[in-house]
Amino acid sequence: MTDTSPVLQIRGLHKSYGELEVIKGVDITAHKGDVVSLIGSSGSGKSTLLRCCNLLEDSQEGEIRFKGEPITWSGVGPHRRPADAKQVLRIRTNLSMVFQQFNLWAHMTILQNVMEAPVTVLGRNRAEVEEKARHYLAKVGIGDKCDVYPAQLSGGQQQRAAIARGLCMEPEALLFDEPTSALDPELEQEVVKVIKDLAAEGRTMLIVTHDMNMAADVSSHVVFLHQGLVEEEGTPDEVFGGTRSERLRAFLSSTR
Ligand code: ADP
Ligand code: MG
Repeated sequence: MTDTSPVLQIRGLHKSYGELEVIKGVDITAHKGDVVSLIGSSGSGKSTLLRCCNLLEDSQEGEIRFKGEPITWSGVGPHRRPADAKQVLRIRTNLSMVFQQFNLWAHMTILQNVMEAPVTVLGRNRAEVEEKARHYLAKVGIGDKCDVYPAQLSGGQQQRAAIARGLCMEPEALLFDEPTSALDPELEQEVVKVIKDLAAEGRTMLIVTHDMNMAADVSSHVVFLHQGLVEEEGTPDEVFGGTRSERLRAFLSSTR
């Protein structure tokens, strides 16, 4: 029964870049409506883990399942099998990724940016996509910016446009890689608000963030990654309050 399976399940994942093993056996599960925050020092493997989920990276051992379906690279060694192009497209559509640098097309208006992938990649009806794009741009609070170019927007507005672009794919889950870390603190809050609204709607999200306040506010589950391993995890109360490991304590005090 795929519909009771977790949206995303990572089991025993190992990932190396050449000789350098950066993910050393990680398990993470996100059910529908879960908001899982991934925290940890720079270099601990957070981006790599997200990129593996989105099939931007391969891996060497373990597996990732999307709604029960092994999405790629199951097996070990020579039996390990890459995803085919159709599967990659389906997974990227369903696990939409929002990057730290918003990656909007400079030569397209905001509306065109949001419409681009559903129309050209998924082949959806242009008029219907436009209606959805306007809806999602309004939802993230920039409904009046449809016809301007990215350079005419603030960083916070550009990131909100990038989130609208992700939503317009109507994905099963959203993956965020440090969505606020390229923004000035006052602009950061606009994006945090959008993410909080999405969490309140029950969207499934995996969020890599350096913003411990946001992680505490929006998450159902927090995972602390240290050198490619899950060092500690639990509810925000468990991870941010009470007793905890020296490593987590040291990390949390370094973020204040
Ligand atoms: P984080 O997002 O937690 O800062 P990353 O996943 O970006 O960590 O990186 C984890 C480790 O993998 C780091 O040591 C980094 O230098 C290394 N790494 C990341 N991407 C690559 C790559 N494309 N090639 C080689 N090493 C990489
Ligand atoms: Mg990173």
